Amino acid sequence: MKIIDILRQDKLHLSCELFPPKQGTQLANVDRLVAEIAALRPSYISVTYGASGGTSAHTVDIADMIQNRFGVPALAHLTCASSTREHVASVIGQLKAAGIENILALRGDIPEDLPFPRPDQYRYACELTAQIRASGDFCIGGACYPEGHPEAPDIRTDVEHLRYKLDAGCDFLTTQMFFDNHLYYQFLLRLRGAGIDVPVVPGIMPVTNGKQIKRAMALSGNMLPPKFRAIVEKYSDDPAAMEQAGIAYATEQIVDLAANGVNNIHIYTMNKPRVARRIFENLSELIGK
Ligand SMILES: Cc1cc2nc3c(=O)[nH]c(=O)nc-3n(C[C@H](O)[C@H](O)[C@H](O)COP(=O)(O)OP(=O)(O)OC[C@H]3O[C@@H](n4cnc5c(N)ncnc54)[C@H](O)[C@@H]3O)c2cc1C
Repeated sequence: MKIIDILRQDKLHLSCELFPPKQGTQLANVDRLVAEIAALRPSYISVTYGASGGTSAHTVDIADMIQNRFGVPALAHLTCASSTREHVASVIGQLKAAGIENILALRGDIPEDLPFPRPDQYRYACELTAQIRASGDFCIGGACYPEGHPEAPDIRTDVEHLRYKLDAGCDFLTTQMFFDNHLYYQFLLRLRGAGIDVPVVPGIMPVTNGKQIKRAMALSGNMLPPKFRAIVEKYSDDPAAMEQAGIAYATEQIVDLAANGVNNIHIYTMNKPRVARRIFENLSELIGK
């Protein structure tokens, strides 16, 4: 099933993200992880490509497993900054052969130790999007950043750049995580004002590791609102308390988004099915309405 058809439905869905294991690790434990997340009946499961320390080598196999063994639509992430055009074409071919219909087209992080872009590489996600569009009948997603991408000079320019992605054939956008829903609402207004009218799926992360999130926020320059900062300050040394507070905070964000008419919310589950399950339980009366 194409994700754009899910996003057009006028009822609340939750989707989940997982990342492949590290290089050299077997896929053996992944089927248990996928089974646990699939049992929650998310609208789709996305699988990252070389992010969060996981290897890109397993992305196609895991997307195949999600969709063809567990019957949940899969969204395979695909990046281009560390690959040649030829390699990218071969991965698109593998996804097509596995019947994967949904790809999240990303640039990825620029490799630190190599010149970029080389002539045999795509420079921006919009170029990759065009390649995927030309390669088959895929539903294509793209990334967007309510607080602006860190390399963009300002948010207005970043939104202008998003337009290239859409012109190249991107069907929907998924946001970077945010901890203040007003950032999402303002961003949505900005996109609509710029004539960008595709669905914008908010990405919500239940934070279960306070130290990790402080580091990530410092690196991205993104904002930790005072209300959430206070939670992290108080509970980051107590993992069980931090997990409970992180789940409660994410639940509250999702309730607010749902009440304001958002149909699909993507949960950055970080390979923690227990956390995903608690969120789904907390929202059991809202899902599908
Ligand atoms: C939902 C989501 C999922 C992600 N999944 C992964 C993953 O699986 N693996 C992974 O490695 N990383 C992942 N990332 C991180 C992402 O790869 C990085 O944020 C990367 O730095 C930018 O990727 P992009 O696709 O947004 O790039 P682009 O859209 O190419 O944008 C990168 C920068 O270039 C600018 N730009 C874009 N187009 C143009 C143009 N035509 N001319 C001039 N400037 C332009 C933009 O303003 C931006 O500053 C994800 C991010 C998000 C939000």
